[in-house]
Amino acid sequence: MAAALRLSDLREQIDIHAIADSMYGLIGELYPICRSITGDGFRTTLKGIQAHIPLTIHEVPSGTPALDWTVPKEWNIRDAYVKNSKGERVIDFRQSNLHVLNYSVPVQQTMTLAELKPHLFSLPEYPDWIPYRTSYYKETWGFCLSHNQLMALPEDDYQVCIDSSLEAGSLTYAECFIQGQSDDEILISCHACHPSLCNDNLSGLALATFMAKALATVSTRYSYRFLFIPGTIGSITWLARNEGSLGRIKHGLVITCVGDPGNTTYKRSRRGEAEIDRAAENVLKNSGTEYEIVDFSPYGYDERQYCSPGFNLPVGGFMRSQYGRFPQYHTSADNLELVQPRYLADSFAKFLAIFDVLENNRTYLNLNPKGEPQLGRRGLYGSSGGASHRELNQMAILWVLNLSDGDHDLLAISERSGMPFEAIQYAAERLADGGLLKEVISR
Ligand code: ZN
Repeated sequence: MAAALRLSDLREQIDIHAIADSMYGLIGELYPICRSITGDGFRTTLKGIQAHIPLTIHEVPSGTPALDWTVPKEWNIRDAYVKNSKGERVIDFRQSNLHVLNYSVPVQQTMTLAELKPHLFSLPEYPDWIPYRTSYYKETWGFCLSHNQLMALPEDDYQVCIDSSLEAGSLTYAECFIQGQSDDEILISCHACHPSLCNDNLSGLALATFMAKALATVSTRYSYRFLFIPGTIGSITWLARNEGSLGRIKHGLVITCVGDPGNTTYKRSRRGEAEIDRAAENVLKNSGTEYEIVDFSPYGYDERQYCSPGFNLPVGGFMRSQYGRFPQYHTSADNLELVQPRYLADSFAKFLAIFDVLENNRTYLNLNPKGEPQLGRRGLYGSSGGASHRELNQMAILWVLNLSDGDHDLLAISERSGMPFEAIQYAAERLADGGLLKEVISR
C-alpha cells in the first residue's frame, strides 16, 4: 500500500472545481425526484448517492417508537393533477412535484373553485414561484401553485386527483462510515427529504457525498459518519437507535444550503465553545472571505435534535444563506440556477479545512519552558514574515513554545496569536520533531 495520504496533502492535491462540477451533476440528477420523509423517492435518492459512495441503508417500520415520536406511515405518489371541465391539467404534478402538498392523502373528486380553494397554497409576495408545503403529521391534501396561476383559475367544475398512498411501510435512512485510526467520530448529517429543492437539501447531500468520497482516500485520525436522513423524524429515529454509542461523537456538523451565493454561515452548537465551534470559527476567520457566525438557537435543522438537552452533542450547523433568510427558500426558485458550482467549491474547501483543523488540533507541553530554547542550534530559526504555512514562521514558533503549557491546544494558540492554524500546526510539528514539545494526551 502507498504511504498514507493526510488530509492536508489531499487539500493541496484535489481539483476542487472538478469536484464541484460533479456535485452539481449529482444535484441535477436528483432534482426531479419527488422526495419526502419516507417512500420510494427517498430510496431512489440514496441509489443516486450509492453510485459514488458505499451506504448502509436502514429501514425502520412505521409505528416504531422513536424517543417521543413514532415512525409515520410511508407515503408514495404516482401522479396528481387538477383538470378543468375541458379535461386540461391546470395544475400538474408531472411539471413540478412541488405542486402537491407533500404527504397528501389520496383524493379523487370533482368540485367547484370555491371548494377547491381551501386546498390551494400560493405565495402572493412572489407571484411566479410555487411554494413548498408539507403536511406530515396531519392527514389532509392540497396543491401548491404560483399566485399568478391561482388568480387565473376561472369558476369551473374541477376534477381533482392525487394518486398517492399513505400506509404501513418504513422510514429509510442511510449511513456512510469511514473508519479512522481512532473510534472517535465526526458526525456529518444532512436531510434528504425535500423534493425538487436544490440549495435546501440537495446541495448538502452532494457536499456530504463528495466529502465522504474524498475522505475515504486519506488516512484520518477520526472516523467519519455521514447520515442521509429525513429531517427531524430521521435524526430522532437515528438518535433513538444509537443512544448507547453517542459518546463516540466528538464533533459534528449539520449541513444544508451550501450552494447559494450567500456568505458562509456557521451556527454554533448548544455548547457554544466546543472544539467544532472553535475550529469552524478559526477557518472562517482565516478564509479571507466574508462570513457570519450565529449562536445556537433551538430552531433550524437537525442540530435541534442533536443539541437537545438530553444529548447536547457538539454539533454545529454549516450553511451559506440561512434557512428562511433567502427569498427562494422553500419555493420553486430554489433551483439549479440558485445553486452554482463555484459556491459549492467554496463550501467544500471550507468544510475540508475545518476537518483538517480537527484532525490536527493537539495539545503540547514545552519541554524546555525556562527561558526560550536556543533555536538556531536546532535548525528551528525560521523566517519572520509572510511565510506560507509550509515554511517555518518565527512568530509561530515563539507562540507555540510560549503557550504549550498543557492547557492551550493549537487552536487556542492560533486564536491568541491571530496566526493561521496551519502555521501554528507546522511550527508545533517541527518543534515536536526537534524534541522541544511533547503531546499531552488528555480526555
Ligand atoms: Zn427545508
